[in-house]
Amino acid sequence: MKTMVLSQYNTPLEIHDREIPRVDSGEVLLKVKACGICQTDLKIIRGVIPPPIVTLPHVLGHEVVGEVVAVGDLVSEVQPGEVGVVYSYVTCHDCNLCLAGRENLCIHLERIGFEREGGFTEYLKIPAYNFCAFSKDLAVEKMAILADAIGTPYRAITGLAKVRPGQNVLIVGAGGLGIHAVQIAKLCGANVTVVDLDPNARDLAKIYGADETLDP
Ligand SMILES: [Zn+2]
Ligand SMILES: [Zn+2]
Repeated sequence: MKTMVLSQYNTPLEIHDREIPRVDSGEVLLKVKACGICQTDLKIIRGVIPPPIVTLPHVLGHEVVGEVVAVGDLVSEVQPGEVGVVYSYVTCHDCNLCLAGRENLCIHLERIGFEREGGFTEYLKIPAYNFCAFSKDLAVEKMAILADAIGTPYRAITGLAKVRPGQNVLIVGAGGLGIHAVQIAKLCGANVTVVDLDPNARDLAKIYGADETLDP
């Protein structure tokens, strides 16, 4: 299979030929259908996220959609042929934080595309727990960013801030996450103000529903 590898910081990714991974008992093998490019990937290329988080050579990509092509012996909840998005946080399910439902803070956390190799490859094996199937009618390119650029502001706005109709929400920075934060806050009925240095980002925020944009 072909895999895009970052061998040195600030250099182009290289195409390497590799063996297709073999699944362990609790894993599924995905044929990658789409993988988002996050601003964080560009930081990794620049060397801003060094070991022990990212170790070279590295395979980027934490916004992955794939089709299941093989499952391990102990996997019953995921079937070959299903298409789904990858939840990139691989956790222990056993520490106090995991057991409290805060597995994003797991003390043994490894993230696909960071501590683990990511989705800039033709085939990727992941724990079955980290696969979330969706309807094949949905566009894989759009679904790829669901778990990161949409899921992150969704939890912040609906889960933590619990935004209600008529409330005022300030979005600082309308980048990849912020532009979705604008739309989610509007769907919650909020009055949304966006602050961004970039006039193009402010224009885009207006198009996607911001009530007011400000140049700081
Ligand atoms: Zn990201
Ligand atoms: Zn844990």
